Amino acid sequence: MKTRRQFIKITTVGAGAAALGLYSLKVSGLNLFESKKEEEPASDEEMTATPTYCEVCFWKCAGWTYVDKKGKIRKIIGNKEDPHSKGRLCPRGTGGIGMYYDNDRLKTPLIREMRKDGSQYFRKAGWSEALDKVAGKMKEVAGRYGPEAFGLFNHGTPGGHLEHLMRAYGSETNAEPAYAQCRGPRSAAYYATFGAFIGSPECTDIRDTRCMVLIGSHIGENMHNTQVQEMSAAIDHKATIITVDPRFSTAASKSTFWLPIKPATDIALILAWIHVLIYENIYNKEFVHKYTFGFDELKAHVKNMTPEWAYGITTIEPDLIRKTAREMAGFAPAVVIHPGRHVVWYGDDTQRERSLAILTALLGAWGKRGSLYLPEAVHLPRFPQPEYPKPKWGWKDLNERKFSLATMGITTEIMKASIPRYNYKHQIKAWLTGGTNLPLSMPDKKLFKEAAEAVEFIAVMDTMPMEVTGYADVVLPEATYLERYDFIRAAQNRIPNVALRMPAIKPRFDSKPAWWITKQIGERLGLHAYFNYDDYSEVIDWQLKQIGTSLEEMKTIGVKSFPRQSGPLYIGNGEDYEFNTNTGKVELYSTDFADAGFDPLPIYTPHPEPPQNFYRLIYGRAPMHTFSRTQNNHFLWDLMKENSVWVNPKVSSLWGLKDGQKVWLKNQDGITTSFPVKVRITERVRWDTVYMVHGFGHSDKKLTRAYGRGASDEEMITRVAEDPIMGGTGMRGNFITFIQENPEVKRKEDKA
Ligand code: SF4
Repeated sequence: MKTRRQFIKITTVGAGAAALGLYSLKVSGLNLFESKKEEEPASDEEMTATPTYCEVCFWKCAGWTYVDKKGKIRKIIGNKEDPHSKGRLCPRGTGGIGMYYDNDRLKTPLIREMRKDGSQYFRKAGWSEALDKVAGKMKEVAGRYGPEAFGLFNHGTPGGHLEHLMRAYGSETNAEPAYAQCRGPRSAAYYATFGAFIGSPECTDIRDTRCMVLIGSHIGENMHNTQVQEMSAAIDHKATIITVDPRFSTAASKSTFWLPIKPATDIALILAWIHVLIYENIYNKEFVHKYTFGFDELKAHVKNMTPEWAYGITTIEPDLIRKTAREMAGFAPAVVIHPGRHVVWYGDDTQRERSLAILTALLGAWGKRGSLYLPEAVHLPRFPQPEYPKPKWGWKDLNERKFSLATMGITTEIMKASIPRYNYKHQIKAWLTGGTNLPLSMPDKKLFKEAAEAVEFIAVMDTMPMEVTGYADVVLPEATYLERYDFIRAAQNRIPNVALRMPAIKPRFDSKPAWWITKQIGERLGLHAYFNYDDYSEVIDWQLKQIGTSLEEMKTIGVKSFPRQSGPLYIGNGEDYEFNTNTGKVELYSTDFADAGFDPLPIYTPHPEPPQNFYRLIYGRAPMHTFSRTQNNHFLWDLMKENSVWVNPKVSSLWGLKDGQKVWLKNQDGITTSFPVKVRITERVRWDTVYMVHGFGHSDKKLTRAYGRGASDEEMITRVAEDPIMGGTGMRGNFITFIQENPEVKRKEDKA
């Protein structure tokens, strides 16, 4: 009989901080973070330097880890040859040491047990027992329902190893929150328009741009390294920067123009810009006439979308709309229309991204210096193995119920397929997760909890006891990126390149690398042919040799660049160029969208307004933290321990709020934050909006530093606007109000 899965909080040992210094990056032109006095370091000659690429976020900057003679990691610095880091790491990257030294880490495999009274707990287990349990359940699921019924939620490089295991096993039922909770609308929109994805790192030619447009992109607070460094250079070169944001962000403070837009109205502004470019006849005629499809339809479509029309929606003055459109046209094609990264806001996000792609095309700002360059990645041959078996069904079959234009699995669809009452044709019975903290990354908490309760089994692989580990039947403690070999980094850039990650130090506690964990499970399933090596270094060496280098060489250089194979970085003037779309042209009018029954040209749709005494909640990032992953890292915690809620002075005086006062937040559905958050009174946010840095307010006591620090914006996101095109989960349609008394105390008083 199915047992209700209790959420288990893992008990802890006392925390202790290693006495190490933090080496922080100072980026010219942007004073983004405080630095901390560093400890007297050992000289480089006295230490061993090992190549790595960072995993504090997913930009994957290459660097060197320095370990002293006592076996202590002393510093991580950038690799000068790396196009991603340009030799410098951001403050989070230098603080990666804290991931290794975090005493709250998962230390040993854990297995869920039940006491006689029905309560549940985790028992420490050996690796053999834990791996047998996971492999045993995989065999059972394959036998009873087929391997496709075992779903995977993954993220980052560890997730890649899990994906290999699952594909060898026969399941392609996987999804990453990085798609439907982040970049998915961008992928769908740019693919429909240009026949190409933007990719990561984004192919933004910021270094040579004359004008950059940021719509809700927080470069500087979002420390994607290359972009921050190039934006700094662009500021030094006096590039025009146009920032559209309801908040005066760090990027806005460095901008020529700040457009404090009313939230949820961005499409209207972009359509008005398109109107100005077309009806003032200042679009890039050479590019449009040679390379695009559907100009006449677009021209007719935006005829009435004047700056005056947009003013009534966005609150941005018509003159400012015209002026900024002319500014872009004046610098075209050397304009970066930044496509954004976390773009799931209001449910019509693919259409907003389409309008950005169309604006880009009208400026001819694609494949030209200073716009979006044509990236290239090294192709790494796959280590010899049999073909993966072909599953009977997978994520595509789940999506095709509704989201035929999605290019990856959708987390919410996998969750719904895990719950019998949704009556999906294909049912999911068990999950494996790696590198993703689902209770915080999923906006619909009820859906997550119902799905987690419905499945028969959950195995979680992670380095830290995140909220998701509390739902596991088996917990697999993973080694940090400083302790393991991993896939070769071969991400796109201007120059194709590879980077090596290898262990700088032995895994702490009883943690193991993801490649080892997946190999052990695979072998228990009889999948030896897919794991035909003793150590992952053999795979790396074989792959490196296929492209003309070796593990031996890479250990000494860390990063190696290769000549481009795909042609120049930019499209030549007048060059014939075929785009990978149905028409071979840049599709201003999307034939894919028309065929699938969606608007082939983007339209503005009004979104719900905040109820009385409520304010729209927007959220973003801080330079020293990545999502909810880093709050317990003692170096990064030291730089920022909690978040605050930004409140406009008009609002604070209405409510009688004081700067620094702690309040609880309540959303439109009556949900209250678990912890209070400090009020920050500032003119830097519109009066109808409040802002929080994402990732705080952890509720797992095992995270001894992060527990209860600040409030979770995620708790306030209970309404999700689904993107009908690709299944994205728009999260900015939530509204909050303030509670000044502790709601727990109030509840008790009311009861009494
Ligand atoms: Fe690491 Fe910073 Fe690079 Fe992200 S941007 S990979 S945190 S150094």
